[in-house]
Amino acid sequence: MKKTARNAVLGMIALLVLFFTAVPPLVDRGMNKLTAAGGQPGVLRKDAAALHATLRVADLHADSLLWGRDLTVHGSRGHVDVPRMIEGGVTVQIFTAVTKTPRGLNYERNSADSDTIIWLALAQRWPPRTWNDLTERALFLAGRFDRTVATSGGRLAPIRTARDLQAYLADRKTGAMKTAGILGIEGAHALNGKLENLDRLYDASYRIISLTHFFDDEFAGSSAGVEKGGLTPLGRELVRRMNEKRVIIDLAHASPQTIADVLALAKRPVIYSHGGLKGTCNNRRNLSDDEARGIARSGGLIGIGFWETAVCGKDAHAVARALRYAVNLVGAEHVALGSDFDGATTVPFDSAHLVELTNALLDAGFREDEIRAVMGENALRFLAENLPQ
Ligand SMILES: [Zn+2]
Repeated sequence: MKKTARNAVLGMIALLVLFFTAVPPLVDRGMNKLTAAGGQPGVLRKDAAALHATLRVADLHADSLLWGRDLTVHGSRGHVDVPRMIEGGVTVQIFTAVTKTPRGLNYERNSADSDTIIWLALAQRWPPRTWNDLTERALFLAGRFDRTVATSGGRLAPIRTARDLQAYLADRKTGAMKTAGILGIEGAHALNGKLENLDRLYDASYRIISLTHFFDDEFAGSSAGVEKGGLTPLGRELVRRMNEKRVIIDLAHASPQTIADVLALAKRPVIYSHGGLKGTCNNRRNLSDDEARGIARSGGLIGIGFWETAVCGKDAHAVARALRYAVNLVGAEHVALGSDFDGATTVPFDSAHLVELTNALLDAGFREDEIRAVMGENALRFLAENLPQ
C-alpha cells in the first residue's frame, strides 16, 4: 500500500474510533446540562433537607436510557443514574424511550421525514435491527434498562405491575437503599404503525406511552407536527387497546385536538408526563387551563417540567411557580414532577439535588402535605391504581 493510501486508511480508522468513543459522551454532555448555578447547591433552608429526607419522590419522565451511560455508577454528566436517584430520594423514576427525533427539532412545526436518532444509534453501535425499525429501538432500550437492573446490585427495582410497586415500597420501608424504574415510550411511532406491536412493547415491560413526540405519527397529531390533527382511526383503536391492557396514555407533546379526542374517548385516567402550563409559560407545547382541567377530571396527573420552556425560568423557583399555578388550577392531588431529565434539556439541578425543589416549594409557601403529594405521593398513588395488577 502506498504511504498516502495507508495514511488515509489510518486517518479513517482514527475518525471511526473517535466517532464511536468520543462522540456519544460529548453529545450527552453537550445536550443534558445544568444551568450556570446548577450542580452547586445554593444555601438551603434548615427545614428543607429534613423534610426532603422523609419524602418519597417520583418523577414521570427522564430520557436517561438514550445516551449509553452506565446508569449504575455516579456519572459526571447528564442528570440521572442509580446513585444520584438514591441520593436525591427518588422512589420511582419513569424511564422513557425516545426512538425518533426530527432534524431541526422545534416547538412549532416538524415533519416526520428525518431521523437524528440514527446517528446516536450508529455512534453507540446499536444493533443493525434498530437502524430502520423504531419498535426494535424501543426493545433495545428496554434491554438497556433490564441490564441496568441486573447490574445494579439490587439497588434498582423494575416495576411492571401494581403488585411489584407494593412489594418494592414495603421493602423500601425496611430502610433498603433502593430506587425503582418503570418503562415508558415517547411517541407511538415506536409501534411502526402496527397495533400488534403494542403487545411486543408491553411484553418488554413498557407501561406508559405518549401518542406523539415532535411530529405527527400514524396515530395522532403532535403539538409540534405539520398538521397538528387529532386521533386517526388507527389512533382510536390504539387508545382502546391501551385502555384494555392498562397501558397508561401520556398526552405530553399531543396537539390540542389529540388531547380533546383522547379525553372524550379514554376510559381510564390519562397523564401529561412532562411540560408546563400556558398560564405561567405561554407556548404551543404547554397545556391550556381547560386541557389541564380535563386531564385532572380524568383522574390523571400533570407533570411539571424543570427546563426553561416548560416553566419560563431557569431555577427551582420557576418550577415552584409553575407547580403553584397547577395546584391552584386543578388541586394538589393532580400535580406531579415531570423533569425531562436527560431529555436534551438544561435544568437547575440533577436528580441527586432534588432537595433544591423541596426548598423552593417551602419558599413558595406550599404546605407539607402539598409538597409530599406533588413531589411523589400523587404519582405513587396513580401508579398503584393504574398499573396492571
Ligand atoms: Zn418530551
